[in-house]
Amino acid sequence: MLQIQNLSVAYGNHVALQDVSLAVAPGEMLAVIGPNGAGKSTMVRAISGIQPIRSGGVLIGEQLLPVHELSAAERARLLAVVPQARELPGAFTVYETVLLGRTAYLGWMGKSQKQDRDLVAWALARTNLSGLAQRRVAELSGGEQQRVLLARALVQSAPVLLLDEPTTNLDLQHQSGLLNLVRELAVEKQLAVLVVLHDLNLAGLYCDRVALVVNGRLQAIGSPQDVLTSQNLTDTFHVPIEVIRHPAYGTPLVLPDGVAHMPHTTSFPTL
Ligand code: ADP
Repeated sequence: MLQIQNLSVAYGNHVALQDVSLAVAPGEMLAVIGPNGAGKSTMVRAISGIQPIRSGGVLIGEQLLPVHELSAAERARLLAVVPQARELPGAFTVYETVLLGRTAYLGWMGKSQKQDRDLVAWALARTNLSGLAQRRVAELSGGEQQRVLLARALVQSAPVLLLDEPTTNLDLQHQSGLLNLVRELAVEKQLAVLVVLHDLNLAGLYCDRVALVVNGRLQAIGSPQDVLTSQNLTDTFHVPIEVIRHPAYGTPLVLPDGVAHMPHTTSFPTL
């Protein structure tokens, strides 16, 4: 369980998040969307406890503990973060990197127990990385590195999972593969998942609810159908945006409505 209450964050005089309140239930996947500079990354950092907050609070886990009053180890057992792939050190092997996710559980000598190694083996299998365990992270593709970050987060066995634009730089197959996997894990492990997504269509397809952040404020929150509307998105992104229903799933499909201005042919030569 994740609860954000009246959260405000400022960088000096610049208020980056203002009075944001929302909750994510176990097993639920919430997408956070919004234009560049809206405050989405600030929100992820504030929830993860590494960003000082101006007012309000973030409560996590079954006992709703305040993130900003916990030690780093306590936080790591309750909340796992999948950062953007460029933050991954390349010199370690995949196995070593994923084992780092167990740091908060290791004894004072930092020695792993069988239970830690079993969890790493499970996370590697679940993210389809078992065959790459001894490879250096720097040698992996973008999609593989993203899965390493997810595996490292999973071994934290934390009830709250945060992901900051995990699909950036992934091709279509890997975008849907990653989000399908996160969705499966959210249900299987009853994780409360908050994921920042650039792609509005992925938010609509994979997430139970969507939070729209604009200028540091929570502009709308609700089902993809309620939030991903032509009106909301046109107001937010300042370009005409059309929304239609996905033919198979009924979820909103977002289409920037700029095609009329583009030169294009109406007939194609037959070969
Ligand atoms: P998003 O992730 O939605 O693109 P950010 O959370 O990165 O937005 O940024 C929100 C606002 O806070 C922006 O106006 C940005 O310029 C500002 N900001 C972000 N990080 C810092 C920082 N470290 N120092 C000062 N201003 C920052």
